[in-house]
Amino acid sequence: VKAKNDVLVVGGGPVGLFSALCLAERGIGVRVFDSQWQGAVHSRALALHPESLRLFDELGVANLILPQGHRIERVAYYEDDKRQAEVDVTKVGGTFPFVLVVSQSLLETALERALSERGVKVQRNHQVQRLEARDGSVAVEVARLEKASVGYGVMHTEWEIDKIFELDTPFVIGADGRESSVRPTVTESETLGPTDRFAVFEFAAPLDVQNEVRVALSDNSSNVLWPLAPGRGRWTFQRTEPALPDKPEEQILWGFVQARAPWFRTRQLEVEWSARVHFDRRLVSRMGQGRRWLAGDAAHSTNPIGVQSMNVGLREAHDLAARVSAILHGGASMSVLDEYDAKWRGDFKRLIASEVQFESGTEPWLGRHASRLVSTLPASGSDLVRLLGQLRMKLA
Ligand SMILES: Cc1cc2nc3c(=O)[nH]c(=O)nc-3n(C[C@H](O)[C@H](O)[C@H](O)COP(=O)(O)OP(=O)(O)OC[C@H]3O[C@@H](n4cnc5c(N)ncnc54)[C@H](O)[C@@H]3O)c2cc1C
Repeated sequence: VKAKNDVLVVGGGPVGLFSALCLAERGIGVRVFDSQWQGAVHSRALALHPESLRLFDELGVANLILPQGHRIERVAYYEDDKRQAEVDVTKVGGTFPFVLVVSQSLLETALERALSERGVKVQRNHQVQRLEARDGSVAVEVARLEKASVGYGVMHTEWEIDKIFELDTPFVIGADGRESSVRPTVTESETLGPTDRFAVFEFAAPLDVQNEVRVALSDNSSNVLWPLAPGRGRWTFQRTEPALPDKPEEQILWGFVQARAPWFRTRQLEVEWSARVHFDRRLVSRMGQGRRWLAGDAAHSTNPIGVQSMNVGLREAHDLAARVSAILHGGASMSVLDEYDAKWRGDFKRLIASEVQFESGTEPWLGRHASRLVSTLPASGSDLVRLLGQLRMKLA
């Protein structure tokens, strides 16, 4: 199949969907392939930064999710039983001076709806298997998967390859997440720090905290409580022990609370969903090459507390779509993509490094946790600079 002025987006997660939406808005023909038969079913990345909301508003998506989201206006810091500091998110100003808690599944549904209104339908069960740079295009091999009943006696369902086909496309955006298939065809990933392990618990409880994220710092861990909605929350604890006890999830959660957040006294916690998840601190050596470019988790990953990888990915998607459409429709030089590489790799490297400088008057306890503070703030770019400023700190 030969398509003119067409971009293939690999991955129908938040970053891939948003890339496609930004391209469609600019009149670029776009296709989205995702290997899974359905989108995210749990919250996973659970919040949109103010800047993401501003970009969503530009594309008319903000009003689809605002009524269903939960607003966060403050980040509070705790150590042991003591509330140490508070950051006022509303001070970032603008139309959306807050962080919006919204489940990844809801986010993806809203983006898919906006895409379908522009005539683009996500093609699920389409797994990109191979990419090859050609002169002026990229050859892509795709496997279409279908459900098959297999087994003898006891039947069960598996996904099988129904058909393999090849297409030729002027550009590929790899937004295919942490196990990206596009990434190894263009670049390598560098590990820039230790892997962090977390235990995540979503629970129902009578919560007193409504519009505030609470970060509990200890000598060797960052932990966070996100309110999801009235009466629901998510605790994420950084794991420092090799194994967790073999106990019911409620007891494991309560053990973490007692050790890391003694100020949290709501004992009646009903765990609705839990997961163990690890996050590498990694960044690609290049954001792309030629006609294959990356955005989101395909390109990077860091500590999840401030939900930075996905939100930076949304900003990358917006910028990459503008650059690609300037090349396809506006005759811009391919060098605009080198600028994309330099900007976003530089920004993410600073996020992972998390090096900060203190202004005079910084609280001493902040010094002890300096290396972990950047990743706990739900912001990036100039908003992050503003929020850090409230703690009398700036990015080095
Ligand atoms: C349990 C859990 C909890 C999490 N909690 C947090 C959190 O608290 N904070 C935080 O910041 N982040 C969290 N994350 C990570 C967060 O989900 C990601 O940062 C976010 O989803 C990145 O978005 P993305 O669009 O870049 O990639 P993804 O959402 O990973 O989307 C990639 C898409 O590409 C598709 N795909 C992959 N390979 C192919 C292929 N070869 N062909 C076609 N399609 C392909 C996949 O099916 C997927 O739909 C969590 C993740 C998990 C699993």
